Amino acid sequence: MSLQSKILDLADRCVKCGLCLPSCPTYQQTLNENESPRGRIALLQGLAAGQLQASRSLHQHLARCMNCRNCERICPAEVQYEQLLDHGRSLLAEKYPASRFARWLKHASLALLSRRERINRLNRLLRFYQRSGLQRLVRFSGLLRLTNTRHLESLLPPLKTARHYASRYLYIGEPQGRVALFSGCLGTTLEQDTLNATIILLNRLGFSVDIGKAQTCCGALARHNGEAQQAVTLARQNLASFANGNWDAIVYTASGCGAHLLNYPSLPWPDESLRQQAETFSRQTREITAFLSEIDWPETLKFTPLHKRVAVHEPCSQRNGLRQADLATPLLRRIPGLEVGSLPGNAQCCGGGGSYMLTQPVTAQRLRAEKLKAIEAAHPDIVVSTNPGCALYLAAGLPASNIRIVHPVVLLAEQLV
Ligand code: SF4
Ligand code: SF4
Repeated sequence: MSLQSKILDLADRCVKCGLCLPSCPTYQQTLNENESPRGRIALLQGLAAGQLQASRSLHQHLARCMNCRNCERICPAEVQYEQLLDHGRSLLAEKYPASRFARWLKHASLALLSRRERINRLNRLLRFYQRSGLQRLVRFSGLLRLTNTRHLESLLPPLKTARHYASRYLYIGEPQGRVALFSGCLGTTLEQDTLNATIILLNRLGFSVDIGKAQTCCGALARHNGEAQQAVTLARQNLASFANGNWDAIVYTASGCGAHLLNYPSLPWPDESLRQQAETFSRQTREITAFLSEIDWPETLKFTPLHKRVAVHEPCSQRNGLRQADLATPLLRRIPGLEVGSLPGNAQCCGGGGSYMLTQPVTAQRLRAEKLKAIEAAHPDIVVSTNPGCALYLAAGLPASNIRIVHPVVLLAEQLV
């Protein structure tokens, strides 16, 4: 089936009722129909039917969609908006190629994320930048303002040396089973605390944890940026890496990656057997808080009390992508003394999903400002989030604050007796 037919097929479900408009953050900000789900669907229908020329403005209307999927969740006709948008962006990349520099930048970023040794090399360079005093000098010099890179640089969290994980971490105590851990592209550098906590917690719960060496980026960024073939290449590597295990689940800690792993079967696979492998793989994947909610917890597992206030942030990828309720709250209530509550305004995107914070910084910062206001009003000591992209983006907006932003498993592992 051609891309055009796929788009027309999916868009045909939309009855143009407009029920999705009030839940769309870009429509709320602009009140422009072209910045709404219904408007974008109509634009894609026009493009696929050959009634509309690919243009810069069409490109911008699609690029400004943050793929939060609020519209998809609310839609009574069950329009598969994310798939429609992915196909639309692929078609637009063919019909309206970006500038040579923009294409180079996109391919360089995606190539970086596809190879762990490249990420580790960049991590070493950036660590040198942070630790040598160069960062302070650059910030003081005004160079960032001159080169318009102040926002980008502000997103850099304090970096650690990449950790090299063993291929297996054995259970402790009574055995319950065996899981594989999907670490993604940036997990071993940016998300070490979360991965370490996950391993510790699962081991103490009686699960051995396998970490496939050949696994790679989930491919979500490639897919959502119109590079479907690259997304297939990365997914194939993950299928091969997780092919031969007999695990209870393939656990992941980033809900953004998980929402894409769940969508592996809908990638444009070259043959049916690979699509079936993708289906088997997707069925095995489990978000960590969901997995922890389903298993037996030994009576002997106790937590040290923590007298702090926690606000639970629910990422769009968890709420709309995985269609998963907040499972962090009941887990965290196992820690005595912890006061756990939902962060007000959870239905609204924070602007930090995928590459949105980089490609659409103005809208992203506007959304983050709303979220930071909600955090300030809630007065938490800690904010927990199951998506590292959101956590990183929110933390970059609170540089001088004492509020910690962590994955819920980090708190659970820290408080284990
Ligand atoms: S996407 Fe769904 S909710 Fe939005 S206009 Fe179409 S049918 Fe209605
Ligand atoms: S995914 Fe989010 S931003 Fe995009 S059209 Fe739907 S509601 Fe609007």
